Amino acid sequence: MREVIHTIFHGRTGVLATMHEKEKVIAPILERELGIKLMVPTNLNTDNFGTFTREVIRTGNQLEAARLKAKEGLQLTGEKLGFSSEGSFGPHPAIPIAAVNVELVLLIDLENDLEIVGESTSFETNFGHRRINSFEEAYEFAVGAGFPEHGMVVRSSETTEKEEEIIKGITTKKGLKEAVRLMLNQFPFNQAFIEADMRAMYNPTRMKQIEKATHDLIKNINNVCPNCATPGFKLTDQKKGLPCMDCGFPTDLVRSHIYTCRKCGETEEKLFPHGKEKADPSQCMFCNP
Ligand SMILES: [Zn+2]
Ligand SMILES: [Zn+2]
Repeated sequence: MREVIHTIFHGRTGVLATMHEKEKVIAPILERELGIKLMVPTNLNTDNFGTFTREVIRTGNQLEAARLKAKEGLQLTGEKLGFSSEGSFGPHPAIPIAAVNVELVLLIDLENDLEIVGESTSFETNFGHRRINSFEEAYEFAVGAGFPEHGMVVRSSETTEKEEEIIKGITTKKGLKEAVRLMLNQFPFNQAFIEADMRAMYNPTRMKQIEKATHDLIKNINNVCPNCATPGFKLTDQKKGLPCMDCGFPTDLVRSHIYTCRKCGETEEKLFPHGKEKADPSQCMFCNP
């Protein structure tokens, strides 16, 4: 398996499309695990693909945005091995009161026609915002959101798209005071809006999740197809029906994972992905109706 990874990637140049210093966590992992050299193009503006501060709305869904960034990096450099990362924040679909952070790290290899994704999902995030009428309110929110290690954004309103009404990357008490004063004085109603800066270099909590997603990417790359040895043999489906420990009836719990190769179409069913061959009777429709 290591042999395959070695021959496909070793010695190549990878391009990471970022302008938010994500290479700090991504590069060491990719360089060590894939034997590549990673570069960051200097003339790339990933803000064109969307900003967390909403002046530019993201192009497409999270994966599509990551794809666009990686391809832009490849286009600018003429290289063939591209990487990008894209994060999303928001209410959890099942638990709306909890904020969830999903990070993707993407590999695109034009030479071998590969697209492989790593992912990390976490409730550990300082994603949040608050309407403010004073510096004291702003500071209280900021400290709760990990300031000053985590940067802040102060803006005239939640919805403004005007660049001059959004102050980003605030990391000092003095800077925060100044930004709040500016926004409160400048605009009617004497109120402003504060939110955590979600850009990676201003957000160590997020940086940690990007690192996790990179490890997941490596894990997925190392998963090679048993038929054609292409990296990125991927979990595409799951089957329910883990049998009940007492009566043997199939439950709603997952019995197997299905993996598919996007190159040759090979599929493989891996039984008992969570390490248990039987379900607890409390999960059974017959034993615990
Ligand atoms: Zn295959
Ligand atoms: Zn049962």
